[in-house]
Amino acid sequence: MKNKARILIVEDEVAIREGLVDVFVYHGYDVDFSGDGTEGLKKSLTGAFDLILLDVMLPGMNGFEICNQVRAQDRDQAIIMLTAKSSDEDIIEGLTLGADDYVAKPFSIAQLLLRVQAVLRRTKSIVEQEHKISLGDDVEIDSQNLSGRRDEESLSFTRREIEILQYLRTNSHRPVSRDELLNKVWGYAANVELETRTVDIHIAKLRRKIEPNPSEPQYLMTVRGAGYRLVGSQ
Ligand code: CA
Repeated sequence: MKNKARILIVEDEVAIREGLVDVFVYHGYDVDFSGDGTEGLKKSLTGAFDLILLDVMLPGMNGFEICNQVRAQDRDQAIIMLTAKSSDEDIIEGLTLGADDYVAKPFSIAQLLLRVQAVLRRTKSIVEQEHKISLGDDVEIDSQNLSGRRDEESLSFTRREIEILQYLRTNSHRPVSRDELLNKVWGYAANVELETRTVDIHIAKLRRKIEPNPSEPQYLMTVRGAGYRLVGSQ
């Protein structure tokens, strides 16, 4: 890994916490920690960590609640729960709330390191996959390089066009209104009526790039009275 992976350790038992900090620093990770649930949640929500190691029983707020709140904000945040007992209920609740994995105490450091590496590999490949947007069989877009191709034709995109595609893809289960695009992609306040044309112009430019026939879109659809919807994306 080129950059150090950043790990947050939320654990109130001092001996365990200090032991974990030492181990992860020794293995080349960038480590921060907290011994309190409320502070742990605050740090977890910064989005600054590649992975969070989360104890269950904590003062202030328990690990399940923290996991729940982090997931509500960021579905891709990697989380490993440290369960106090290997009780099935703890484990099931942790995984139901969206932890990527769990390690039951007492755990071996070697096992924990392996789990951490596995979860980091998984989340890293998800991030890499998200750089690629495929539409049907004929369009591929590399959002990192602002480039792509439709059949044999190579395409280039502006950063804004890519952001529009990414937002529509994330929400591809529903149409997205112009106001929402202005708000989420451009960062404008809602109801900037004059600006909705800006959205239409960008959509038209995108269609000329990605659609085999821009006047009859098959990917970037208009949903009457509702907005735009991206169809056929992977
Ligand atoms: Ca604890």
